[in-house]
Amino acid sequence: MDISSPIIFATGNTNKVKEIQTLIGEKFNILSLADVNCVEDIPETSDTLIGNAIQKAEYIYNKFNKNCFADDTGLMVESLNGEPGVFSARYAGEQKNSEDNIDLLLSKMKNNLSRKAKFQTAICLIWNGEQHIFLGEVEGEITLNRSGKDGFGYDPVFLPNGLKKTFAEMTMEEKNRISHRGRAIQKLTEFLQSR
Ligand code: IMP
Repeated sequence: MDISSPIIFATGNTNKVKEIQTLIGEKFNILSLADVNCVEDIPETSDTLIGNAIQKAEYIYNKFNKNCFADDTGLMVESLNGEPGVFSARYAGEQKNSEDNIDLLLSKMKNNLSRKAKFQTAICLIWNGEQHIFLGEVEGEITLNRSGKDGFGYDPVFLPNGLKKTFAEMTMEEKNRISHRGRAIQKLTEFLQSR
């Protein structure tokens, strides 16, 4: 297959499409679900990040029969036994509100001296009918209070190890260089460029 062929990214999040397009470069044309007129909610019922990424990528592959990938990310907090994990998006309820999710996380951790946490991303690519998994991880800690205005989700309370800025205080480029998703996408990009 021509290396400049479009690849469908199973997401409705246009920020993510932009983020990934920047990282992957112009050789590849990343299409969002909106670009292919796919409006339905894709099932995501696995209890693992990899399981959800596979489920979403297979759904799109079965529907369009085109190269595609899907990702799933979770924040795992050690002192909360890995919570919120696969439930990161809807930790405080189905409305998927990041402010509520952060409030709940900080309140559950109010008396925790141990603040260790990590973000993990799983990407499932279906390339010429074959499945490939790419993983990315970043370790850090949950701050006591929010700091920073950029980014999304739990960014204002996640401080990567060895750095003095939360993800929400970084530019997109700074965050992409070290983030869970940036690392997983780097592996995806290396794979695609070797095809
Ligand atoms: P998703 O699988 O990428 O949709 O991520 C699930 C949830 O994890 C999101 O709704 C966010 O709450 C959180 N999340 C994912 N990636 C990030 C990130 O880079 N920073 C902060 N929160 C994130």
